[in-house]
Amino acid sequence: KRSLFSSITGFRVLLGDMGAGKTSLVLRFVKGQFHEYQESTIGAAFFTQVLSLNEATVKFDVWDTAGQERYHSLAPMYYRGAAAAVVVYDITSMDSFQKAKKWVQELQRQGNPKLIMFLVANKADLEEKRRVDNEMGEQYAKENGLSFMETSAKTAQNVNELFYEIAKRVVKAS
Ligand code: GDP
Ligand code: MG
Repeated sequence: KRSLFSSITGFRVLLGDMGAGKTSLVLRFVKGQFHEYQESTIGAAFFTQVLSLNEATVKFDVWDTAGQERYHSLAPMYYRGAAAAVVVYDITSMDSFQKAKKWVQELQRQGNPKLIMFLVANKADLEEKRRVDNEMGEQYAKENGLSFMETSAKTAQNVNELFYEIAKRVVKAS
């Protein structure tokens, strides 16, 4: 049995189209903040947070990548060593959903069977502008062996749940 204070460090990476809300999800989780005019990420940003689960303390190291195509070639160095990857799309943008699927395919091509993958449908607060049905995301996740969650960085819906769920899965797998 693992001691209460054992610490597990692992890298997680956030991927997805620019504007999907990756930085906002991390800021909501780490600082409890949300900014309507979130500056877009250049290259990648690194965040760290400690989470206490019953069975372990998890030091959460998160690489928040820029979704822009021109940074695409930077991504492998972040996700190669990752224990978990979170692919985020914006429920108000079908394009962001298509881009998310491309990221999932790219991750699957990496061929790391142990990589824990989450598909996250963000901006769930913008229900009136929704373009991607919940079922579409859920179905795609199911078919590709990903965990699926709908979140809102704005209202904090499911944000802590998402990061705790990732931590739990990582601890279980370690
Ligand atoms: P990133 O490029 O994926 O890191 O996306 P950002 O975190 O920079 O967010 C892009 C824009 O979407 C910003 O204007 C955010 O304020 C906004 N945004 C992010 N998450 C949400 C959300 O859950 N709901 C709403 N309404 N807006 C969001
Ligand atoms: Mg960003």
